[in-house]
Amino acid sequence: MKKLRLFVLLLILVTLSSLIPTYGLEPIDLPEPPAPSEPEKPSFIVCIDPGHQAKGDGKSEAVAPGSGQRKARVSSGTAGVATKKAEYVVNLEASMILKQLLEEKGYTVYMTRESHDVNISNAERAEFANQKGAQMTIRIHCDSIGNSGKTGATLLVPSKTSKYTSGIYEKSNAYAECLKTALKEKGVKVNGIFERGDMTGFNWSRVPVVIFEMGFMSNYNEDRMLSDPSYQHKLMEAVVEALDMYRDNEQ
Ligand SMILES: [Zn+2]
Repeated sequence: MKKLRLFVLLLILVTLSSLIPTYGLEPIDLPEPPAPSEPEKPSFIVCIDPGHQAKGDGKSEAVAPGSGQRKARVSSGTAGVATKKAEYVVNLEASMILKQLLEEKGYTVYMTRESHDVNISNAERAEFANQKGAQMTIRIHCDSIGNSGKTGATLLVPSKTSKYTSGIYEKSNAYAECLKTALKEKGVKVNGIFERGDMTGFNWSRVPVVIFEMGFMSNYNEDRMLSDPSYQHKLMEAVVEALDMYRDNEQ
């Protein structure tokens, strides 16, 4: 009996040992470990501010933090000489195209408004972008001037020397340079990049910001172009290409 028990015990041991894997003794074909995936690049945050709104608000607000100087909270903007369309309408049309183009490319987009019936002052728009941690704010506008022959896009950036905006000038201007290049590549006339120290929406901003004046609604031909969805699309493509360019340069 003892021999039989010993035999059974041995049999069990042999069976068990054959189950123990023999790592290290012979090469084992393990499947290739999956390549470590690229860490997700944090999405670049853009704030789009479609200029103006259906009704302006003439109540005043400080033009800069702590400033005693005051300006109207927000105006309703200009209107087209040919189309009779309000600027705030064109601004939002273009902005909605921009939002879609940016989201398709993986940008994170915040809009200060997506309808006309709002009341958001220029300072509040800047604060909104600050709170969202925007890496660039694009303010979409159209121009108007007494001279009906004047045409072309104009880019406005915060003042380099203002105590309120000196810290955001460099990045704002770098983006404006990219936008100027992208617009010119598409055959769009650019009048230039101009520093402005008098804009509430700049002075309250703690994030880089530009105003893209897309063209003149006081010029009959350009006014019609600004309402053409394909022209709006072309302009907004330039905004996106410029952001791609800016982002590449930043890294
Ligand atoms: Zn405007």
